[in-house]
Amino acid sequence: MHHAGRTRLLVGMEPDAQRPLDLAFARAVAWLEAVPERHVAPATGVDAVQDRLGRVLPEVGQDPAAVVGRLADAVEPALIASQSPRFYGWVIGGTHPVAVAADWLVTAWDQNAAMREPMPGTSAVEELAGRWLLDLLGLPDTASVGFTTGATTANLAGLAAARHRVLADAGWDVEAHGLGGAPRVRVLAGAERHGSVDLALRYLGLGAATLVAADREGRIDVAALEAELARSSDPTIVVLQAGNLHSGAFDDVGAASDAAHRHGAWVHVDGAFGLWAAATPRLAPLAAGLARADSWATDAHKTLNTPYDCGVSFVAHPADAVAALGAQASYLVATASGLDPWTLVPEMSRRARGVPVWATLAALGRSGVAALADGLVDAAALLADELRTLTGVEILNDVVYTQVCVTFGADERTAAVADALRAQGEVYASTSRWQDRTVLRFSVSNAWTDAEQVRRTVEAVRRAIDAVP
Ligand SMILES: *Cc1c(COP(=O)(O)O)cnc(C)c1O
Repeated sequence: MHHAGRTRLLVGMEPDAQRPLDLAFARAVAWLEAVPERHVAPATGVDAVQDRLGRVLPEVGQDPAAVVGRLADAVEPALIASQSPRFYGWVIGGTHPVAVAADWLVTAWDQNAAMREPMPGTSAVEELAGRWLLDLLGLPDTASVGFTTGATTANLAGLAAARHRVLADAGWDVEAHGLGGAPRVRVLAGAERHGSVDLALRYLGLGAATLVAADREGRIDVAALEAELARSSDPTIVVLQAGNLHSGAFDDVGAASDAAHRHGAWVHVDGAFGLWAAATPRLAPLAAGLARADSWATDAHKTLNTPYDCGVSFVAHPADAVAALGAQASYLVATASGLDPWTLVPEMSRRARGVPVWATLAALGRSGVAALADGLVDAAALLADELRTLTGVEILNDVVYTQVCVTFGADERTAAVADALRAQGEVYASTSRWQDRTVLRFSVSNAWTDAEQVRRTVEAVRRAIDAVP
């Protein structure tokens, strides 16, 4: 609806409500423009930000635009440039401008994406995004798709469906009766599973997983899994991993799923950043057999480079997801299919976080997503090759995907080089422990990390090595 004259935003608020939005837009764009060349580490800390903002709740309100300006002024120096193409910390990833833009619209629209019928606009978009993801990732087109805050909650959603199914098969209604008196549920997971799997199991009352041996790259030992499966006929859930945090290695999901299914177990795959390998033909060998699992978790806010918060839960047997996660209440407006957004994830009210996923997929297309994944893997391979030419560098993992683990000699020296590197401000990578060594871990997760950025990264590492006696 267009009105003559000055647009009056948000009826009932002051006529110049647009000023904070204009200011936020300008500051956001300035931030995005500065990110590639700014010092990657934050210049100030929590105390400095709080000093600047003031710690006392104001008694009276302040001009909204002034609040936005003060917020940006205080926080920007303390931001980490995690969208920089030379940022390799944890597993983070950048943000496509189209995804940021779609996310802004989601915020302005402020739809509660829980219900499909009353919120058809954003639900329609999320549904398309979900179908496109199943297609891109080669997952069964009948699987349910739920958008969560991240892979931790996506793991929780998949494992909740798993818990429902294996206990139902054992004649136990866990939703009605809880776990007290239930048959014991066995969870088998690789020794190098991600910590969020432990959290999800804890939330579900399943306790700690029984750990199955992993090989040098962190892949579950399928023979050891078979032996463990044969040890008991308790209801069993197997948790596999596509993309090890340190090596990037993938469990043999096909073989492990077949073994698990022979024993009636449910197979869940944590593919927070690894599931995206299935989107490119070049990485098909890594993702072989992925579709034979029963549930999968991934993040869009990592490899796909959408803004936080966006995880995705896929369940091959939607009825199990709904049984585990769907609430019943008279005021909820259900669709005929029963696959309302709120029935597939732990959250009820939530933002339409699948919309930036749709926008990114629409902007990149199938070939663009494949090029994104291939580009990350190419950059990781180039980074490993170039780092190997520096003195004293050892690459500990087989670089098959996006992760590169480096040592510079003894643990203390590796830690010192890592500190020197981060202090320069050109490159950020995480210090971690792997294979009983201190490592500097490069996670190549940013769509803009190309050969030139890798060259700059290696030069910075060379300077850091030279700086440590
Ligand atoms: C990041 C990550 C998670 C957790 O995802 P969040 O989005 O942080 O909740 C789980 N598994 C793996 C392998 C990860 O890298």
